[in-house]
Amino acid sequence: MLEKLRKEVWKVNISLLKCGLVTMHSGNASGRDFQTGYITIKPSGVDYETLKPENLVIVNQNGEIIEGALTPSVDMPIHLYLYKNLPEIGGIIHTHSNYATSFAALGMSIPAYLTAIADEFGSLIPCTRYASNEGDEIGKAILEVKNESPAVLIKNHGVFTLDNSPEKALKAAVMLEDIAKTLHLALLKGEPDILPPEEVKKWWDRYHSWYGQR
Ligand SMILES: [Zn+2]
Repeated sequence: MLEKLRKEVWKVNISLLKCGLVTMHSGNASGRDFQTGYITIKPSGVDYETLKPENLVIVNQNGEIIEGALTPSVDMPIHLYLYKNLPEIGGIIHTHSNYATSFAALGMSIPAYLTAIADEFGSLIPCTRYASNEGDEIGKAILEVKNESPAVLIKNHGVFTLDNSPEKALKAAVMLEDIAKTLHLALLKGEPDILPPEEVKKWWDRYHSWYGQR
C-alpha cells in the first residue's frame, strides 16, 4: 500500500542520519497521502541503519494501524495532531539536531539574521514555550507560534519541520541546521543585525517565485 509514499518517507528517514541530524533512533519523519488521508511514519525505536521501507507503519488519521508489523513512533500523536490541524501539510520531521536544538535549549527564536533565513524561513523561525510530551501539548505549542516558516523550534527539546511533502520537510531540517551552525559561530563574535522586513520580503518572494530551474 502507498508504495511511492512509503519509499519517499523511508528515504527521508535515512537522509536524516546521512545528514547528521539524528543519532541512533532519535528523530522521525512521516508523510501524508492526501487521497486516503493515511500517514506513513517511522516505527518506534528502530535504528536508521537497519530501517527498511517495509518497516514503516501506515496509520489512519486516528492513529489506527492500517499496515505494518511494528509499533509507530512514540511521537505519532504529535504528527497526527499537526496533520489534522494543518490540512496543507504533507510531510513532518522531528529531530534534535545539535546546532538548531542549542537555540531551542535556550528558548531562542531565530530572526532573519541571514538572507538564507529570509529565503527559506521568512522573518522568524519561532520557538515554542516548553511543552510536555503528553497528548497534544507539543502540537498545540507549535500551532501557537506557527508562521510562514517550515521550521519550528521546541523549547528545551528540539525541532519540527513541516511542509507539503516529506522531501520539502527534509530540506527545511537540513537548511535549519546549516543556518543554526552559521549563527552559532556569528553569535560567538558579536550581535548580528536583523534584516529589515522589506529585505526579508524581497528575498522570500524571489526564492518562492522564480528561483531555480524553470
Ligand atoms: Zn524529541
